[in-house]
Amino acid sequence: MSAPYRGRFAPTPSGPLHFGSLVAALASYLEARSHDGKWLLRIEDVDPPRVAAGASAGIVRTLAAHGFEWDGGVLHQSDRNEAYQEALARLVDLGRAYACVCSRKRLAELAVPGVDGPVYPGTCRDGHADAAGALRFLLPEQRVVFHDALLGRVACAVTRECGDFVLQRADGVFSYQLAVVVDDAEQGITHIVRGADLLTSTPRQIVLQQALGYPTPAYTHLPVVLNSRGEKLSKQTLAAALDDADPLPALRLAGRFLGLPEIGLVGGAGAWLTQAIRLWPEAAVPALRGRVLTAKLSV
Ligand code: GLU
Repeated sequence: MSAPYRGRFAPTPSGPLHFGSLVAALASYLEARSHDGKWLLRIEDVDPPRVAAGASAGIVRTLAAHGFEWDGGVLHQSDRNEAYQEALARLVDLGRAYACVCSRKRLAELAVPGVDGPVYPGTCRDGHADAAGALRFLLPEQRVVFHDALLGRVACAVTRECGDFVLQRADGVFSYQLAVVVDDAEQGITHIVRGADLLTSTPRQIVLQQALGYPTPAYTHLPVVLNSRGEKLSKQTLAAALDDADPLPALRLAGRFLGLPEIGLVGGAGAWLTQAIRLWPEAAVPALRGRVLTAKLSV
């Protein structure tokens, strides 16, 4: 028998929850609940400069106001430095992490464009893990192939397309890639449903899981919500915050975006979600599958 379903939503508190994040929250929630699964909430506040004052509490409030119920407490990455340090120490012991002493200027000269920003060519690979600087992951010469529930086969030649990525910055902050992999394993996540803007991170997370001996979850990358200028919604593109006092309009719109049929007058957000869980597998998932989502990394 396969492991019981454990999904999650993992927002970064760089601002209030916006409509694009609501779509990811809703899809991951409906997938988990329609599989009788757990749905966990993790606040990804690993990078202090990116955290907006009050945003973590605001996100939790907004999710509750929109009817979401998570299992267990809320995990905060800011409480998890010990776990990240332990994983990093293992990677150093395994010879899979090395110190990078390249300056910003040097990096700009060296790097070539990749699928998600500049690709570091491994210049400091022959140095020492204990030199002062950022710690990078030593990528294997490997083509990562995984199956996405909506996109099908996705492949990435990680060394060439992403390059050795940072595990811990020179200022001591652990990277998103490391934190997410350690936390997904710790929380026993079996299924990850998130926006396709994170598709380029997945191959790096898979090689990191393999290096640390963690299982690889199943992945679903959702279409990304764009504004009328074709930009991803974010604080920078001034995505409107959600209205905690009036959650149904945003839920309905998110449901429509995900291919759910209209749900008639039902009462509050909780009741709307209950109906949506019932409709999700037959109605929305096939509709999503039929849509062109995003360019694949490579084949
Ligand atoms: N914290 C990431 C974000 O808000 C999402 C991480 C994930 O779902 O893996 O974009």
